[in-house]
Amino acid sequence: MTKPEIKCRTIPELKEELAALGEKPFRAQQIFRWMHTGVSDFDEMTNLSKPLRTKLRENYLLTAPRIVRKQVSALDGTIKYLWELHDGNCVESVFMRYHHGNSACVSSQVGCRMGCKFCASGIGGLVRSLSAGEILDQILFMQKDTGERISNIVLMGTGEPLDNYDNVLRFLELVGSPDGLNIGQRHISLSTSGLADQIDRLAEEKLQITLSVSLHSPDNESRSAMMPVNRSYPVERLIRSCRHYFDVTGRRVSYEYTMIDGVSDRPWQAKKLAALLHGRPAHVNLIPLNAVTESGLRPSTRQHVSAFQKILESSGVTATVRRTLGPDIDASCGQLRRSYIEQSNEKE
Ligand code: SAH
Ligand code: SF4
Repeated sequence: MTKPEIKCRTIPELKEELAALGEKPFRAQQIFRWMHTGVSDFDEMTNLSKPLRTKLRENYLLTAPRIVRKQVSALDGTIKYLWELHDGNCVESVFMRYHHGNSACVSSQVGCRMGCKFCASGIGGLVRSLSAGEILDQILFMQKDTGERISNIVLMGTGEPLDNYDNVLRFLELVGSPDGLNIGQRHISLSTSGLADQIDRLAEEKLQITLSVSLHSPDNESRSAMMPVNRSYPVERLIRSCRHYFDVTGRRVSYEYTMIDGVSDRPWQAKKLAALLHGRPAHVNLIPLNAVTESGLRPSTRQHVSAFQKILESSGVTATVRRTLGPDIDASCGQLRRSYIEQSNEKE
């Protein structure tokens, strides 16, 4: 039987389990603090007795991802990591430097089952979901590697976070713990392809995180062609959930909108988008497509992007064109893992 991952545990859970192992409750907080420093072996928890460390090793798995690849942008210091997990699977994360602090983009699953046409993460389907501890590990080990604190998190790496709902929620609880990384919900964004039922469920949690919705198109025809999820939750249904999310949490929803030449960048689509978002505070991030070789889709021209932005703004919708960090290492979401898998296949 595989041992449970200790980094998935909250302090109250640890207290209970330690009591069952005959340990004092105050050890829970001590161990929890160690877990969140990025130690990779129980022996590094130096203020615990040797017998206790042995007991922990016998009862728990202490995950510690290994860096398999690391790409550092020579332009702005953005770092892209590819990690190997304890079962040999790989996930990627990105460390970004902004004037307001460091930000981490983390993965929530190995692969993804949503199958969006423009995305490298979905090509091989879903392998498995990450545990709360494995999502947390990406942050802990980026901090360890850089020696710098991370103050903002975006759940925008590989995977659909709302398809891994319970583990993602547990991750949010762990990362916000004052004895752990203590990163507040207002410093966290969760990006979803639009699982509307799960958005409704998330609203009821009444969290203060930013919900970021990958809309990419305001009309069902082109959205369904790019994103199979739209066949289950069409645009109007999705927007209803987004409005509800704002009404319940008071948090402005962000929309990701990838600019794809001839597919999503036409002026009538900008008008339709503005009409769709009318009535609730919203923010649109226009993202030039990162061409994934397999997809055959091309990014919009700069002229089309700015024309689109102007239409939105003249209708009262704020829109920014996303600054591309680390353009020299740019490999959007899932591309690093993809190229690694392909290389490994070539070697075989
Ligand atoms: N599954 C979630 C979060 C991970 S994807 C979601 O889809 O929202 C993170 C973001 O990257 C999404 O907005 C996604 O649409 C976008 N994305 C994926 N592939 C891209 C590409 N080739 N170019 C630009 N953005 C891309
Ligand atoms: Fe999955 Fe998001 Fe990629 Fe779609 S864009 S395949 S939901 S990771």
